[in-house]
Amino acid sequence: LYAPPVQRLITELGKLPGIGQRTAQRLAFHILRADADDANALADAIREVKERIGLCEVCFNLADGPRCRVCLDERRDATVICVVEEPGDVIPIERTHEFPGRYHVLGGALSPIDGVDPDDLKIAPLYARVERADPPVREVVLATNPTTTGEATALHIAAALRERAAGVAVTRLASGLPVGADLEYADEVTLGKALAGRRAL
Ligand SMILES: [Zn+2]
Repeated sequence: LYAPPVQRLITELGKLPGIGQRTAQRLAFHILRADADDANALADAIREVKERIGLCEVCFNLADGPRCRVCLDERRDATVICVVEEPGDVIPIERTHEFPGRYHVLGGALSPIDGVDPDDLKIAPLYARVERADPPVREVVLATNPTTTGEATALHIAAALRERAAGVAVTRLASGLPVGADLEYADEVTLGKALAGRRAL
């Protein structure tokens, strides 16, 4: 139906989350109509993130060097670690301005059905980090999503930390977040309250 380059663009755009075939076509035609400069800027931006952005060697957040901005910031409290599923979950928590600590990004949630086991996530590095921390970690806040897999992941990590690091408080975000939703979509006020009202797990 389309010239092969156009079809290729539609196919690639259609692989993005939430983009159906019709939207992919609309976006493709928008790009075709756009100035060459704008279209190239989009292509360059995609290429640049893939080339320059990696994972922080400490917390596995996105970083444009060996360490992310939060880990490089000496003012951040290293004795409190907030555990999230994806790098995208760090942003909404940062926006609340309620969390002074550091992060640990798991890279997903446990889901035996989908074949996601503890070894597939950055769970072992979390334990190592907590065990080796100097100054010692006081609290681990489990801010995985309020979904079935997120809850299961929080419980799994809480049980392991109780055994490995008995002195560390393990807390979970207060309820009030929309159940089944991703942290990413929570508004700042709700998320701020959930953080402030976190409870022992
Ligand atoms: Zn980091």
